Amino acid sequence: PELAAVVANRTVDVPDFPKPGIVFKDLMPLFADGQAFRTVIDGIVGHYPAGFDVVAGVEARGFVVAAAVAYATGAGVVPVRKAGKLPRKALSASYELEYGEATLEVHEDAFIAGQRVLVVDDVLATGGTAGAALDLVERAGGTIAGFTVVMELAFLKGRERLAPREVHALLTV
Ligand code: 5GP
Repeated sequence: PELAAVVANRTVDVPDFPKPGIVFKDLMPLFADGQAFRTVIDGIVGHYPAGFDVVAGVEARGFVVAAAVAYATGAGVVPVRKAGKLPRKALSASYELEYGEATLEVHEDAFIAGQRVLVVDDVLATGGTAGAALDLVERAGGTIAGFTVVMELAFLKGRERLAPREVHALLTV
């Protein structure tokens, strides 16, 4: 569809970033184009006609998407941050990386019990990040209204890892 084409056309493949052999998908040109960015945000909003109360964005590129979706809908915005960044008491979730592990955190009082939370990030790869973010939102009392990424890298099987949770991607490659 047209939405997927907008994402595909404005995304740049960066070979050997951040490590040799990895092709990094750079979405910054997509976000830098005002019309394309609005198309992306409207595409996400349009996928959730029943709405949500809060948008949780995953550090750091997810913040860009989360804030815009929240503003467009009148929802609030909550950051899911890398370890050690939040100033108050936080819940944390760790997940395996290829080498070592990573930890995400959310303030323990980030949500009012039962608030419907849309979780957003720029890219879904292996699903480790998303799995931790979704767990954190639930542990903090939120109800998952959905999980959206701008781009899904299907060959890394994040969708399978997250099943039975639903994943909405504007573009799957
Ligand atoms: P995962 O945990 O699913 O393996 O990786 C997803 C996380 O890493 C997301 O937060 C995403 O921002 C980042 N990420 C992984 N690969 C890429 C990529 O190719 N491009 C971008 N922009 N982000 C990526």
